[in-house]
Amino acid sequence: MSTDDVIRFEDVNKWFGTFHVLQNISLSVKSGEKIVICGPSGSGKSTVIRCVNQLETHQMGRILVNGREVHEDMKGLEQVRAEIGMVFQSFNLYPHLSVVENLTLAQIWVHKRPRKEAEERAHHFLKRVHIEEQARKFPGQLSGGQQQRVAIARALCANPQIMLFDEPTSALDPEMIKEVLDVMVELAEDGMTMVCVTHEMAFARKVANRVIFMDQGQIVEEASPEEFFNAPKTDRARLFLSQVL
Ligand code: ADP
Ligand code: MG
Repeated sequence: MSTDDVIRFEDVNKWFGTFHVLQNISLSVKSGEKIVICGPSGSGKSTVIRCVNQLETHQMGRILVNGREVHEDMKGLEQVRAEIGMVFQSFNLYPHLSVVENLTLAQIWVHKRPRKEAEERAHHFLKRVHIEEQARKFPGQLSGGQQQRVAIARALCANPQIMLFDEPTSALDPEMIKEVLDVMVELAEDGMTMVCVTHEMAFARKVANRVIFMDQGQIVEEASPEEFFNAPKTDRARLFLSQVL
């Protein structure tokens, strides 16, 4: 195994009851790589993402994060999770807490940082997602795009080595998609290791080192963006691209 794989799936299989949702999934992500996962709804993309930090458990095969095998009853799962930032389609902010409190809560209670340090860190990352002026507002007072940028800043406060994105712009109005993608592009340019489930193909072309196309629980194609978009190898990928481009 290559030592610089930060995420590695080896023949991972998962079932929901009798439904074989992930079928022999093998993939590796190196430090600094940006991977885009795309594919039709129900193909298993979210399940792959959620298996990385064991929000979903797999039944066969191995998943390694920074060289450690992860499974549901492993020791140190919390430590692994702390290395991984996750951003979902729904922003999952605490509505009764201000923006800055959303960013300091886990820092203070999970990472045991002093409040002042946590707040400085919160402001640093709010600045990085270009939303520092909203720090005292509540999530309900922000647009969807602003809330998603807060969610990204909150994930960054934990100092993750890997960022996982699961359709971060799918719930947004069209005019807000760009502001979120711009932040993700900046993060990519800063060298963050990123795995992004997204149908934003312009984003994929711009930042992805590799595109992984899934269908019905399998990885059907894995290619550079140029190859994937210009010369998809399978009918399934061609059909998918004709629907999203
Ligand atoms: P995608 O993100 O590509 O749309 P998912 O990974 O969310 O796909 O889901 C893949 C398949 O697994 C879908 O058919 C979905 O209905 C099913 N599925 C997802 N979560 C569960 C669950 N908790 N229990 C049973 N089936 C599930
Ligand atoms: Mg999904």
